[in-house]
This record gives sequence, C-alpha cells and structure tokens, in this order.
Amino acid sequence: MPELPEVRTVSRALNEAVKDRVISNVKVFREKTIVGTSPKKLILAVGDAKIERVTNIGKWIVYLLDNDKVLLSHLRMTGKYYYYKDKQKPTKHTHVVFDFKDGSQLHFEDYRGFGTLELKDKKDYLDVKPLSKLAEEPQNMNYIHFWDKLQKSRRAIKTLILDQTIVLGFGNIYVDETLWELRIHPETPGNQISQKQAKDILKFGTYIMDWSTSLGGSTVSTYSSINNIEGSFSQYLKIFRKDGKPCPRCKSTIVKTKVNGRGTHTCPECQVKFPI
Ligand SMILES: [Zn+2]
Repeated sequence: MPELPEVRTVSRALNEAVKDRVISNVKVFREKTIVGTSPKKLILAVGDAKIERVTNIGKWIVYLLDNDKVLLSHLRMTGKYYYYKDKQKPTKHTHVVFDFKDGSQLHFEDYRGFGTLELKDKKDYLDVKPLSKLAEEPQNMNYIHFWDKLQKSRRAIKTLILDQTIVLGFGNIYVDETLWELRIHPETPGNQISQKQAKDILKFGTYIMDWSTSLGGSTVSTYSSINNIEGSFSQYLKIFRKDGKPCPRCKSTIVKTKVNGRGTHTCPECQVKFPI
C-alpha cells in the first residue's frame, strides 16, 4: 500500500506528465471510483479545464485545475496511473480515463478497486472532509502538540502513528522501520511515550520518508509509480517483511505479530514490550 514517499513520487511523476494539459473528456468505467458526486457531474466540471499542478497532501493526490475545481485521488491498496502519448485501450481494471486535447491519455487502474477520485471546490477543499480532518506531515508537526495527542490515549503507539488525524503520511512500512530504529515496542500505550520519543518519531519519520522519496519509494508487492516505474528504497528496509531473519542490530530473530489487525515486524530484543 502506498505511503507518503510513494504518493509523493506518484504525484511528482503525474505533475511532470500532465501539468498544463487540457482535459477534453473523462470516461468513467466504474462508478464506485467516483466518490461524493456522480460521474456525470465530475465529467462536466473538469471538461475543458487545464491541470495547473499535481501535488499531494499526505496520501491524497491533489489535481489543481485552472477553473474553480480540484480533484482528489487516493490510491488505497492498488491504485495506479498510466500516462500514454496516444490513445490506449482500457484494460478490465481501468476505471477512469482522462482524454487530453493533445491526444494523450491518463488511465487510472485499480486491481482491488478501493482507489477513488473526488471532485472538490477550490475555495474550500482544505476545510472540508477528507482533507480537513488530516494532521500535519511529520516535518511540519510540532512535537509537543504530537506528544499531547499521544498522552491522551492508551492505544498502541503503532496504531496512533497510523492514524492520519494524529500524524500524516506513515503507513505500515515506515512505522515499523521507525519504531525499530527508536527501540520502541509497537504496543507501547500512547500515554507511555516520552516527549523525547515523540520528538524522535517525527524526526526519524521525516528522515526515512524523505530518503525513500528520493529513491522513488519502496516497491514491495503492489506499489509502483506511474507507468509501473519501481522505487528502489526497499533494499534499505531493516525490519519490514524481514520476519525470520536476524535483526541488523542485535542478530535476534525478527518476529511478525499483529497490532490492531496490522502485520507488524519487531525485534524482541531491541524493542522490549512495555510492562502492562
Ligand atoms: Zn534487535
């Protein structure tokens, strides 16, 4: 599942591919992909609009149009974009096709079908759901504010970091890597996390996600950037999907457990469970 570095990579690649292109038509092959409005309304609202810029806010891809509209897209598990210079036939997993005036096309494909597109008004898209509920990305977040949020909860630190209303951008890969690096057990209750640990989580999270972005993200299982370009950060992962292998720090065997239903990789020596 794409996390912040991967979504940043996709939105940068999209920006290069479709910035300044004018949409002539949108074909929707799967209505459920369009959220919050009818496909017909979306098609009417974006037809003839130029894409000014593509960026991201957390795991949301944001298409800023030159009219009063914005398109938000979420890749969820397996959403992927393909840009073609010439018209291409849709596959059975192609849910939306953007036709551009210059004859090129952008296809949105999604094998699992959870990915979405939403139409918003430019004047208030940051103040309405889903973006209004999001926290800040770790590099922008004040650590005292983050620590305050953790203090109010007895939920597992891993679950809290994955909550996009607490801190933005972490998914399963980077949360496991960060907690291992900082020797924090993923089931530690939020209110047992020290101010220093809170600060370190944001600092290391920023560092690892920036580093991964610079390498195009981590391609593990389904993720790739547009046109199936793979990221190369997965070679630097220390603990994610390394269960059964030795911990790079202490050589103990890495274990895989579940925390709140999410597969979790920990070193039983480096990450000591908090006594509950
Ligand atoms: Zn270890």
